Amino acid sequence: MWSFWENKSFKKYDYIIVGAGITGLSTAASLVEKNPKAKIAVLERGFLPTGASTKNAGFACFGSLSEIASDLETMNETELTDLVKNRLQGLEKLRTRLGDKKIGYKNYGGYELILDKQIPYIEQLDKVNELLQPIFGGQNVFKTKDGLIEGFGFNARHVRRIVYNRFEGQIHTGKMMKSLLKYVQKRGVTVFTGCEVISFEDTQTEGNGKNNVSVKIKNPLENKGQNFSDIELVASKVAICTNAFTKKLIPDLDLQAGRGQVLVTKPLKYLRFKGTFHLDEGFYYFRNFGRRIILGGGRNMDFEGETTTKLETTKLILEDLKSKLSDIIIPKHKFEIETTWAGIMAFTKTSKTKIPLLQNYSKNIVLGIRLGGMGVALGSKLGEEIALMMKDGD
Ligand SMILES: Cc1cc2nc3c(=O)[nH]c(=O)nc-3n(C[C@H](O)[C@H](O)[C@H](O)COP(=O)(O)OP(=O)(O)OC[C@H]3O[C@@H](n4cnc5c(N)ncnc54)[C@H](O)[C@@H]3O)c2cc1C
Repeated sequence: MWSFWENKSFKKYDYIIVGAGITGLSTAASLVEKNPKAKIAVLERGFLPTGASTKNAGFACFGSLSEIASDLETMNETELTDLVKNRLQGLEKLRTRLGDKKIGYKNYGGYELILDKQIPYIEQLDKVNELLQPIFGGQNVFKTKDGLIEGFGFNARHVRRIVYNRFEGQIHTGKMMKSLLKYVQKRGVTVFTGCEVISFEDTQTEGNGKNNVSVKIKNPLENKGQNFSDIELVASKVAICTNAFTKKLIPDLDLQAGRGQVLVTKPLKYLRFKGTFHLDEGFYYFRNFGRRIILGGGRNMDFEGETTTKLETTKLILEDLKSKLSDIIIPKHKFEIETTWAGIMAFTKTSKTKIPLLQNYSKNIVLGIRLGGMGVALGSKLGEEIALMMKDGD
């Protein structure tokens, strides 16, 4: 039951965005930058964004040598270079919008550890460099730096080569999301948390009216013995930015959840490296955070079990991550784990494409989801594109 005042002040918006991850908040940022007077609401089911954007490893990356070389087997050269370009433009947008200090950006470079299995990728280094040169002002992106295997203290029985990429960086994921939230709030966007959208409907039949889309929210007081019904908001345009969780709202989509588990060590006295590191074709990734190591991955240990939206860690994968630390990354040293967590990514189910799903769901509803494992890079760019599609239909 809404009061007269609530109806006047809280019900109607120009734009509603569902999901306050990097994609949803970037969409709000792009909309408000173009139209500072617009009434914009972001609806987020969690107390915090609760998917991938506050749970990731903070790599500001656009693809390692083995990832790009193996993507060439499933995507054509134009698709792949466009994707890398979008990742780069997304990172540039994030950095210029919020500022390097506010996102904790550090330009320590990125490295790929080449194990026996990945040696054939080294033969593709020149080809991949040539492919990427036009995007990087004619410069080579990847080069080998094998002297670092010992210098960084990795186990040389496993690590055969190291490929260095000076264009890669790292961010502080918490700082980045907090700054993005502040950025939009400062410009008048309302972000409602604890606000789960349960359905939406495009009710516009003809013309170019307002209040075209009805968005229903679960009333959190419903289960507390109070007889409140679902809450309805209305907007001219709506964007769905719920990534892996979108199937609950739109079941019939080419979308599959993929959980990522992560651990962080307590500070290590002997840490000899700084930077972001890719291991085993991107199935594992680690970085320094000060003197700590943040390590994630291992979905390949249990693909079926990790196709889930449950925010839980498992013993199988955490033990596997710990063994990567002791066998490969810091072989001669003891370490303690400070904490562990899980986040949820979104992939395609039917193909191997890494291109996000961006489309009109209906005339006034835009879908921008399926960001895969490099959404820190893609999120700001995708948000800009979603905002353009919402405005184009105005
Ligand atoms: C462990 C891990 C490590 C990663 N590491 C990196 C990395 O180092 N670099 C990189 O580039 N990428 C990384 N990624 C990927 C990157 O984090 C994601 O691609 C990106 O955050 C996706 O952003 P998003 O906003 O599209 O989705 P999300 O962050 O998942 O946001 C979707 C939001 O929608 C909300 N929502 C869902 N359903 C509803 C509903 N019905 N009503 C209201 N709100 C709803 C969710 O609570 C969530 O906050 C990693 C991901 C994980 C899980």
